[in-house]
Amino acid sequence: MGKLKVVVDRNLCEGIGVCVPEAPKYIVLDKRHKAVILEPGKDKEQLFQEVLEKKRQEVVLELTIEEEEDIFRAAEACPVKAIFIYDPETGEQLYP
Ligand code: SF4
Repeated sequence: MGKLKVVVDRNLCEGIGVCVPEAPKYIVLDKRHKAVILEPGKDKEQLFQEVLEKKRQEVVLELTIEEEEDIFRAAEACPVKAIFIYDPETGEQLYP
């Protein structure tokens, strides 16, 4: 297991949705068609409410290697590069 900080810039996100099938366990679209990172243990509807007015959603996720790869593929798939990935320990930007 490793940790990644995943950030969705909800201003940049255009709701194209091609990120979702790459990491369906962690990324969904809300009713505004903006990507939302699911937080394990948090109720989806409550999360949607919380992020509704946010410009950025930041989440630190604990992930298996396969899940990390899914998150990177999702970020790479985003045509407007609205998904950012950081090392939460060092703050280093890993993508884009
Ligand atoms: S692919 Fe990019 S623009 Fe489309 S929903 Fe995902 S984050 Fe938003």
